[in-house]
Amino acid sequence: MPSTNSAWVARDLAHVWHPCTQMKDHEGELPLVPIRRGVGAWLEDYDGRRYLDAVSSWWVNLFGHANARINAAVREQLERLEHVILAGFTHEPVITLSERLTAIAPAGLTRCFYADNGSSAIEVALKMSFHFWRNTGHSGKRRFITLENSYHGETLGALAVGNVELYKDIYRPLLMDVLTVPSPDAYGREPAESAAGYARRRFADLEATLAEHAHETCAVILEPLVQCAAGMRMYDPLYLKLLRSACDRHQVHLIADEIAVGFGRTGTMFACEQAGISPDLMCLSKGLTAGYLPLSVVLTGERIYTAFYDEYAKLSAFLHSHSFTGNPLGCAAALASLDIFREERTLEHNRGLAAHMAERAAPLAAHPHVAEVRQRGMIVAIEMAADKAHRTPYPWQERRGLRVYRHALSRGVLLRPIGNVVYFMPPYVITPEEIDLMVEVAREGIELATCA
Ligand SMILES: *Cc1c(COP(=O)(O)O)cnc(C)c1O
Repeated sequence: MPSTNSAWVARDLAHVWHPCTQMKDHEGELPLVPIRRGVGAWLEDYDGRRYLDAVSSWWVNLFGHANARINAAVREQLERLEHVILAGFTHEPVITLSERLTAIAPAGLTRCFYADNGSSAIEVALKMSFHFWRNTGHSGKRRFITLENSYHGETLGALAVGNVELYKDIYRPLLMDVLTVPSPDAYGREPAESAAGYARRRFADLEATLAEHAHETCAVILEPLVQCAAGMRMYDPLYLKLLRSACDRHQVHLIADEIAVGFGRTGTMFACEQAGISPDLMCLSKGLTAGYLPLSVVLTGERIYTAFYDEYAKLSAFLHSHSFTGNPLGCAAALASLDIFREERTLEHNRGLAAHMAERAAPLAAHPHVAEVRQRGMIVAIEMAADKAHRTPYPWQERRGLRVYRHALSRGVLLRPIGNVVYFMPPYVITPEEIDLMVEVAREGIELATCA
């Protein structure tokens, strides 16, 4: 069989059920793209076409595909130990990674509990918070507070604390009940209002909910600074500052889901740094392994850790596990990634790239159907709207973003708009010239998608 796109697509569609996909779409004009290899910020298909990976393959890739340094680290680890049970046993990569993560994490996060994907890390954090309160004599605390438009993953606990209706609605009968407060998303502010002013105003809702429900609440869970899956909705760091002090006052945990925003996406290593706060629990995945392997971790501090530490017969231990918890190959990739951050001064380098993206994306704001161009570090989002003045969105049925996606593919760029939001979240190896291409193709795509 010739090794062409269409040959692979035919075999794929016979057996592979793709994630987050209406499979019928692939029978029509929406091509499935089989990828033969990746190099740096580029992916290449079986027909020899190349695509600039402007979404870091779903926000996971940091230093390009087939990165020589990370490849070597994983290969070296592979020759020594591919995996070992992490209960009762341990290994060098997980020890070193835990030392390195606790050294760079916000102050007070000294303990690492591993899982193997983002949703599982959220489950760990939720269970750990609930169990902490039980172990410390507060068994009435069993609820969670979440933000409108938040996303925390697809497993049932993670889905319950999320608030993207498209993913959640159908499963509602299966989900635990949560308290949901309005999002501080700065897109919702009044024309003359600052993002910080809006964050303060929205925080009043959360404060009121805490005042009423703290006695039955384990934790507030949120994505610091950017609610990515809801369309890169951004808010002011002040909200996190206010939240930290409110959680202390009301004796409620703060769970920071940095699964998407961690590892430099917002300009700092962790988004919480921009508010100068430390969460009680911090979830990491995606960029943790530079996008190489499934691995996640929940960091917490001594206060929570010691609440589980006792004689076995007290039955206070955290009896949670996943088969691939702390996988050595994933840890080796993560360590190589942290080496690159340090030695290549990635955060500093990214400031130049972010400034270049800002400059190139700015003119898009003048487009009659672009209601906002927003940015936080290495994330840029462009909000298309039917009516710019009133910020009226296009009806979702029109699938405007899909038109941008298809145009971009035809021009060799992988963009994957979320509804009406076109965004860039590129790997850090992208060049200024590649940024120019990415923004130009997005501009063309928006033009096409909004012209009729
Ligand atoms: C992707 C994501 C998750 C879920 O991670 P998975 O590895 O896909 O299960 C959770 N929270 C946020 C903020 C994410 O972006």
